[in-house]
Amino acid sequence: MELTRTIRVQLEPTPEQASALARTIEANRQALEYVSRIAHERRIRNAIALQRVVYRTIRSRFGLRAQMACTVCRTVAGVYKSMKANGNTDTPAKFKHPKPVFQRNKDYVLRNGLAHITTLDGRLRIPYHVEPPYLRYLQDGWTCGAAELVQKRHRWYLHVSVSKTAPDPVGDFDAVIGVDQGMRFLVTASCGNQAMFIRGGRVKQTRLHYVRLRASLQRKGTRSAKRRLKAIGRRESRFMTDVNHQIAKAVVHFAQAQGQRPLIVLEDLTGSNLSVRFRLKDQYWRMSWSFRQLADFIRYKAEEAGIAVMLVDPAGTSETCPKCGHCEPANRSRKRHEFRCKRCGYRCNDDLAASRVIAQKGLECLRQSQGA
Ligand SMILES: [Zn+2]
Repeated sequence: MELTRTIRVQLEPTPEQASALARTIEANRQALEYVSRIAHERRIRNAIALQRVVYRTIRSRFGLRAQMACTVCRTVAGVYKSMKANGNTDTPAKFKHPKPVFQRNKDYVLRNGLAHITTLDGRLRIPYHVEPPYLRYLQDGWTCGAAELVQKRHRWYLHVSVSKTAPDPVGDFDAVIGVDQGMRFLVTASCGNQAMFIRGGRVKQTRLHYVRLRASLQRKGTRSAKRRLKAIGRRESRFMTDVNHQIAKAVVHFAQAQGQRPLIVLEDLTGSNLSVRFRLKDQYWRMSWSFRQLADFIRYKAEEAGIAVMLVDPAGTSETCPKCGHCEPANRSRKRHEFRCKRCGYRCNDDLAASRVIAQKGLECLRQSQGA
């Protein structure tokens, strides 16, 4: 299982270094705009083909270094690819506030308290600072990946993505906790007869409020409405992030209370799994990033606490009987929030049933990996 995170590294450049960084950001932006125009005019969508056409110009006209010139081509090709996937094929891609991407070792490296960064003015050595909770990501077992250069007011940051391959959980766990994510209960966690429910009511209300507010501003369509829309988007995502942090913390505490060596089992909601799991009616929720964010937060916090996490396939989770394993959609009544097995008659709250099935799926995976 791959764990990834983004950590914020604050740079402390001299005024001269800051101006070199600023010029690098601007050159990168101009190069992106230029390459985007060429890609649009000549209908080139492939990064390599694009690079063949524009590479020399990027180097000579905008002064970008080799690696960054390649990254620019890849970025543009990627943006056009996702625009095409969204059905947009006739407008050129815009890059208003792009963040230059630095490849590790080639464009930047963090070494002995100094960030070595390749800019238009060559390689700079800039002192940096990392908040204590994030220091560990620059050490034991984590690998740095690409980094984005970000300027906020007068501060400079590298947003560095770090990753680590966590081994599949093996060994003796004295508690297996199944975690179900949903609408009515944002989280239902269970372990044997112990359970924890976290209600979604207040969150749902708040988000609906934002949805309505956004809709009315979109109808207005004025410039000030657009500004407010952006601000609201930021406020909403801050709200959700905060809620998700708290929930993730609660899940980890619950797990710790269940045993000395607990295992948390989550549904794997990456890729198309999200649509397998949620109905169309709940589209706003289904589309939202917050389910995945919560799953990610639980994984981070568990990892920090030394608790193993396993991801399982969500298919059929909410229709399967935790007692006899019978799987049938009619087992679950969404209206009454009730699970009632058509075969054995087992009854309980539907989200609780799902979390128990998730725990069982985790156990089954453990058994298989140990049997193999
Ligand atoms: Zn049953």
